[in-house]
Amino acid sequence: MNLKPTSEETAFRTEVRDFVRTNLAADICERVVGLRRVGRDDYVRWQRTLNERGWAAPGWPVEHGGTGWDAARRVIFEEECFAGGAPRQMPFGLSMVGPVIYTFGTPQQKQRYLPRILRSEDWWCQGYSEPGAGSDLASLKTRAERVGNKYVVNGQKIWTSFAQWANLMFCLVRTAVDVKAQEGISFLLIDMNSPGITVRPIKTLDGSHDVNEVFLENVEVPVENLVGEQNKGWTYAKFLLVHERSNIAGIGMCKRLLTRLKDVALRETSRGRPLIESSRFRERIARIEIELLAHEWSLLRLVSAENEGRPVGAEASVLKVRGSELQGDLARLLMDAVGPGAIPYSEELLATEYAGPRPGPDYAEPLGGVYFDMRKVAIYGGTNEVQKNIIAKIVLGL
Ligand SMILES: Cc1cc2nc3c(=O)[nH]c(=O)nc-3n(C[C@H](O)[C@H](O)[C@H](O)COP(=O)(O)OP(=O)(O)OC[C@H]3O[C@@H](n4cnc5c(N)ncnc54)[C@H](O)[C@@H]3O)c2cc1C
Repeated sequence: MNLKPTSEETAFRTEVRDFVRTNLAADICERVVGLRRVGRDDYVRWQRTLNERGWAAPGWPVEHGGTGWDAARRVIFEEECFAGGAPRQMPFGLSMVGPVIYTFGTPQQKQRYLPRILRSEDWWCQGYSEPGAGSDLASLKTRAERVGNKYVVNGQKIWTSFAQWANLMFCLVRTAVDVKAQEGISFLLIDMNSPGITVRPIKTLDGSHDVNEVFLENVEVPVENLVGEQNKGWTYAKFLLVHERSNIAGIGMCKRLLTRLKDVALRETSRGRPLIESSRFRERIARIEIELLAHEWSLLRLVSAENEGRPVGAEASVLKVRGSELQGDLARLLMDAVGPGAIPYSEELLATEYAGPRPGPDYAEPLGGVYFDMRKVAIYGGTNEVQKNIIAKIVLGL
């Protein structure tokens, strides 16, 4: 196992760094680095910038318009984009439904959807979870009945991220009931503008609107929108979840939070001196930086294994759990650093056009929201408890 970068990888890192510095719009960078809210348009603009460079899909094979990069290059790319202040690439099209379509889809589906994902012309959302079907996803109840050349879909999805921005949803539906739960599920692509779809917002603790309830009432979906075979959707759903999880180590986000933390500790004061000069606070920063370094090396070990074609077992779950813990710890430290200057709930204060009085410095305002926002990383993509079950099964054979 060789964890040192090759000279080509070092040159590639410089190339990506220069590209981000030159091509990322300053206003987007400012919002991202300041940990403020990033809008739909910001994500779309950055994705289109990457597409023009041929870097729209780091994880896809070349024949579908991807870069064909190995795992090491993908990690370098993601690291440099995060370090340069770019918004993350939205996963729903790129890392979730895209790979499902190019692996299991029809030629027509590939032709229709893949180029639009690269150019960010569609916004996809993920219709998996339902009330009563989250960790136990196979118990989902949204029903799709075949009527002629259509499916008629009835049911409810929940926690659907950015459904309010989406024009398409990949959706797990039940197409057979008298079989084992996993064997009666199908994978449908649904136009969010179809009659019968209602999207209702869910406000989260950080005051933002990222997740939604989606109600489907007699929604008609053409049969050509079925991916793969009817009742084989569980296979595609599991394939997709592996992709979702492998992107969840969160190294880039952790480093962004750490950089912010050091910056805040320089600006904040404690008993008249910069917080960074408090040995106790410095120790807390040092401790978490070491933990992060160890986490990064774990990711590099996984990357090395992938590049050498060695099988990957519980590592993705370990990285997900550890990454989410570190993001939570960093967000807590950030909030500790600014104290009452962090105002989590005031939308007016978080809006840039607000001109009234502010209770704390600019940089502190989003941090309460960030703290609450980071709680969710332990839940989506398979909760940490469920990941620990997976680790126990693979590593301990329990
Ligand atoms: C911010 C956010 C965005 C999301 N975005 C999407 C999205 O876009 N699309 C989508 O489909 N879903 C999305 N989800 C839903 C997410 O996948 C589910 O919340 C998650 O799978 C957990 O399901 P649940 O909420 O039903 O909780 P439950 O499964 O009911 O779990 C409740 C608690 O019990 C624990 N638990 C459950 N089963 C076990 C077990 N076997 N062993 C030990 N502990 C267990 C869980 O860890 C959890 O703590 C999102 C969630 C969040 C928070």
